[in-house]
Amino acid sequence: MLISLSEIMNLPTGVQKRTAVYEPSTFVRLGVTYPILEKEEVELEIENLGSRKVKIGVKTKVVLSVPCDNCLAEQQVEIPVSSEVEVDFNQSEEDRVNDLNETAYIDGYDLDVDRLVYEEILLGFPMKVLCQEDCKGICKVCGANLNQGECGCVRTEPDPRMSVIRDIFNNVKEV
Ligand SMILES: [Zn+2]
Ligand SMILES: [Zn+2]
Repeated sequence: MLISLSEIMNLPTGVQKRTAVYEPSTFVRLGVTYPILEKEEVELEIENLGSRKVKIGVKTKVVLSVPCDNCLAEQQVEIPVSSEVEVDFNQSEEDRVNDLNETAYIDGYDLDVDRLVYEEILLGFPMKVLCQEDCKGICKVCGANLNQGECGCVRTEPDPRMSVIRDIFNNVKEV
């Protein structure tokens, strides 16, 4: 959805409230597609600051389906969005890009709500997603989810923590 900021800049200064719907049904990050399970209406507060400047407040919430980093079981991850950005139309487009890092959501004098919300979800995306703090992961032999019980395979791979200790040993020996 596009919201005309030039229209808002022509209104008397003050806050204009708008609502929008975040259109996409999936969220794509680093080439991976995550289904959007739920989304709230996007609440926008756009303030005409005068002198061709606007402040944009955006608030919404999405729930994504994201696999656990360890066992790949799908998790519901809630990402709240609550942010404020200021856009100065006195600056050249190039300066604005450098200032805001991202002005892909400003298209001419229009605000691209989907792009803005996308950037905010990207910022709020968790670094790590685990189904539980001590997720046991999947068996590297048969692929079973070890949280659902031991599969009985013999997994002889060395524990990566042990290799660190071995390295320390080797270094000590070399001295
Ligand atoms: Zn897990
Ligand atoms: Zn197994």
